[in-house]
Amino acid sequence: MKNLQDFEEEIYKCSRCGLCQSVCPVFKATMNECAVSRGKFNILNGIIKGDLKMTDNVKSYLDLCTGCNACKDFCPSGIDAREIFIAAKQDFYSKNEISFRNKLINSYELFKFSLLWAGLFGKILKIFKITRLIKLLESVFIKTGYLGKRLVLFNSLFCFSVKNRTKFAPKNALKTAIYFDGCFNKYIDNATKTAVVNILANSGITTVNKKFECCGVSYLHDGDIRGFKKLIQKNLQQLDVEYDYLITDCSSCNYVLKKYSQYDDSENSKILSNKVVSALDLMKNLKFTANKKYTVAVHKPCHDDYDFIDVVKNIEGINFVEVDDFDKCCGFSGKFAIQNQDVSRKISTSKVQQYVDSGVDYIITTCPACLLGLNQGLAEIDCQRKPTPINLFVFLAEYCRQSSI
Ligand code: SF4
Ligand code: SF4
Repeated sequence: MKNLQDFEEEIYKCSRCGLCQSVCPVFKATMNECAVSRGKFNILNGIIKGDLKMTDNVKSYLDLCTGCNACKDFCPSGIDAREIFIAAKQDFYSKNEISFRNKLINSYELFKFSLLWAGLFGKILKIFKITRLIKLLESVFIKTGYLGKRLVLFNSLFCFSVKNRTKFAPKNALKTAIYFDGCFNKYIDNATKTAVVNILANSGITTVNKKFECCGVSYLHDGDIRGFKKLIQKNLQQLDVEYDYLITDCSSCNYVLKKYSQYDDSENSKILSNKVVSALDLMKNLKFTANKKYTVAVHKPCHDDYDFIDVVKNIEGINFVEVDDFDKCCGFSGKFAIQNQDVSRKISTSKVQQYVDSGVDYIITTCPACLLGLNQGLAEIDCQRKPTPINLFVFLAEYCRQSSI
C-alpha cells in the first residue's frame, strides 16, 4: 500500500497542460481549478515539499472529486489521479483529528441505520401503493423545491419489483457461487438481487447467501483505510466455505472487492480477489429477447470493467440508442453527494438531460449509486416525458425473455 510520498515522481509527471479540465465533471460544474487533478497536484506537490500543511481545507479540495478517473484516461502522462487522492486523504487521516461532521459522515453504524430506516420507509410506501401516487404527482412535487425533489428521488428507488419466480435451481450444481449482495440490495430494495438469483438459476447456478457488510467503496475513496480494512476483515469472516465464485451485480462492489488483496495480506483476501466475478460472467450461455421494442440507452458506471453495453446491444428486439457521454460520471459517488450536494446535483442534471433529449424509455446501468445519480438529475427536470433509470438485471429479468444459446 503506497503513501503520498511514494507518488512524488508520479505527481511530478504532471506537465500542467490542463487537458484534464476538459473531462473533469467537477471542474465543468464549478470552474474551480482546485477541483481538477492539475490543481490538486499543485497542492499535493506543496505538501510533499513541506511548503503546505495537510489541513481540513486541503481535504475539502481533495473531496471535490467524484473519483471517476476520467482525467487518467485523458492525461498524456497517464497519471492515476484516483490512487493519488486516496493516498493523500489517508495522509490527512493519519495527521489530523477528524471533525464531528466527518465522524458522522464516516460512521458505518449510522450509515447502516439510515439505510435500514430508508428501506423500511420505502417498503411502507410500496405496500400502500404510495409510490405510484408520488410518481403520478411527480411534477407537482418537483415544483415544491428541494424537499419535493428529494421525495421524488427517494420514491424512484422503490418503483420496481421483481417476481420471486426462481424455479429451476439445479439439484446437482457443479459450482458454488457466493452472492455478495451489497448495501443497496440488502437494505433498500432487493429487486436486483431477486433478478440476479432468478437469472442465474436459469443458467444452472445456485447462489449461496452470506451476511456481508458493505464492500467499503466509500471508505476506500475517502482514504479512511482503517475503516476500509475493518470491513474487509468482517467480509472475509463470512467466507468460511469452499466456493468457486464470489458474484456481484454492482460495478463498484466488483471493483472494490478485487482491491481487497492490495489492502490485506491474508491468503483469504487473495483468494477472494481472484474469485470475484460479475454476475454477467455467468450468464454467457443465455440469450435475452425484449418483451416489447423498448428504446434504451446505457449509463456506464465509472467502476464498470465488464463493458455490459454489448449485453444490452445484443438483447433481441431492442432499440438501442448510444447517447453522448454515456460513459461519463453521473455525479453521485457516495460521500461526494453528501459533501458537495449542489455540485453533485448539477453534474447529475446535465448528465440526464442528454437522455431526456434522446427520447429513450430506459437508462440501463449496473450500479445502485448511479441509479441514485440518474434519478437525482431527473428529479431536477420538470418535463412531460422522462426516461426511467433501471438496473440491468431487473431489466433482463422483468422486461425480457431468456433462452439458452
Ligand atoms: S492532463 Fe495530466 S499532465 Fe495535463 S494537467 Fe492534467 S494531470 Fe497534468
Ligand atoms: S477523478 Fe474525475 S472528478 Fe476527480 S479530478 Fe479526475 S476527472 Fe475530476
